[in-house]
Amino acid sequence: MDETPRGLLKRLFGYDEFRLNQGDAIDHVMGGGDCLVLMPTGGGKSLCYQIPAILRPGIGVVISPLIALMHDQVNGLVQSGVRAAYMNSTMNYEEFVQVSRAAMRGELDLLYVAPERAMKPSFMDFLSRISLSVIAIDEAHCVSQWGHDFRPEYLRLGELGRAFPEVPRIAVTATADELTRKEILSRLDLNGGKVFVSGFDRPNIRYQVVMKEKPKKQLLDFLRRSHRNDSGIVYCMTRRKTESIAQWLRDNGIKALSYHGGMGAEERRTVQERFQDEEAVVVVATIAFGMGIDKPDVRFVAHLDMPKSLAAYYQETGRAGRDGLPADAWMTYGMADVTGQLKLIEMSEGDERYKRISRQNLEIMLGYCETTGCRRRSLLSFFGDSCDVPCGNCDTCLNPVKTWDGTVQAQKALSCVYRTGQIYGTGHLIDVLLGRGTKKVLEAGHDQVSTFGIGGELNERQWRSVYRQLLAMGVLSVVPDGYGGLRLCGDSWPVLRGERRLSFRVDEVKTSDKNSRSST
Ligand code: ADP
Ligand code: ZN
Repeated sequence: MDETPRGLLKRLFGYDEFRLNQGDAIDHVMGGGDCLVLMPTGGGKSLCYQIPAILRPGIGVVISPLIALMHDQVNGLVQSGVRAAYMNSTMNYEEFVQVSRAAMRGELDLLYVAPERAMKPSFMDFLSRISLSVIAIDEAHCVSQWGHDFRPEYLRLGELGRAFPEVPRIAVTATADELTRKEILSRLDLNGGKVFVSGFDRPNIRYQVVMKEKPKKQLLDFLRRSHRNDSGIVYCMTRRKTESIAQWLRDNGIKALSYHGGMGAEERRTVQERFQDEEAVVVVATIAFGMGIDKPDVRFVAHLDMPKSLAAYYQETGRAGRDGLPADAWMTYGMADVTGQLKLIEMSEGDERYKRISRQNLEIMLGYCETTGCRRRSLLSFFGDSCDVPCGNCDTCLNPVKTWDGTVQAQKALSCVYRTGQIYGTGHLIDVLLGRGTKKVLEAGHDQVSTFGIGGELNERQWRSVYRQLLAMGVLSVVPDGYGGLRLCGDSWPVLRGERRLSFRVDEVKTSDKNSRSST
């Protein structure tokens, strides 16, 4: 049988063309190579292993964690005429024997198994007695120990590669952030394998990020300007805030409901149903709102607070515009978000590694907010997917940010961190730069340091922006104690020595800037 992958695609599945990276991934596996395929849900990951499993001699074994999905997939395949079966705990002994016999006789193309079964010695022994075409690992992110879907049985799946080195292995997942990807490659022992990433772009979503000034008013302006009578989601950090914002939106004539994990199940279901069924409902929610929302015409997702990672941001904003029509992902952010999140991380029960990763995620998120380039590009490059030209559908593309040469100001800002001992947050540092003799400044003797009063060319708001952008550029770092103090890092020195020039985003500085001072 010399059928090509494309021929099989047409004959069995009825499709004319491969989608995204399917064709490349299939060719790679057909040639015997290992790989990791990253595509969003619905992208078409299953064909990437089903087609090689059918075309290569032997049986393709698919490790799949969800028994319900296993049944659906196998039924679908059998209906298309593929010889597929599964082995899991729902079967009785006879069914089990029947499937094993069929496999031994080579009468199967695909065999689905649950991970806990896959690693049993009896099953490994069974595998060694049949001929294998490919080993596929579905939902490969379940191997990631700090993810939501961690499955301890996945940790042992790397052994399959050692037991059957000649059989190509393909892992697939929709979770594509770099850390998870690295973890999958190393834990599944796929390090020599190729990585295929595609399909993460959501071209109809317009990304916009604005600095937090008067967030409620900014949100209301955004809704009135672009989304009168639209359905959408507003994400906030805390339960209390979802309630107060929803109330405030209602006071302003918007049909807003709050939703969070502290509400009763009944109440939550009502909100979900109203969002689904009624027109123009705005749900103000914590991240608890998301699972199981299946509404195609969500016209906007707004974030009043910065999400904890770019992966979370992508997932949350991805709920907008599933119908393919224009939708907005809009966010306000400020330094207080970062400090607040850092406190939460410090207080969390996670171990040091978890905390380090969480802090790193936050920095990447902040970098996305502060970018002066195309937002889609920075989002996609984070997932390893590409976006070759600026997208033309994000705020920085539509209104290119003005930049200014801030090398001297960067040096002043960094020196001030250094001179005051690398423990203070922006509020205090700016007081020093602006020569303000506050109680804290005087008590610390910081009116005596060489950077006291040298920052008169910028106002407080502009200095805040300088510090944020230095953080986003990785030229300055946060003291990892959760208090928001700043300290120098390796990349600070070339700037201080005058070897590296920096330009900053010119933020829209309002002329009436007198009372913008917030406490840190
Ligand atoms: P995933 O596992 O990535 O969530 P699936 O493999 O379940 O996605 O595929 C999602 C849907 O897309 C399925 O209905 C599948 O038949 C369809 N599909 C897959 N590949 C193609 C293709 N090349 N052309 C058209 N439809 C496809
Ligand atoms: Zn863009």
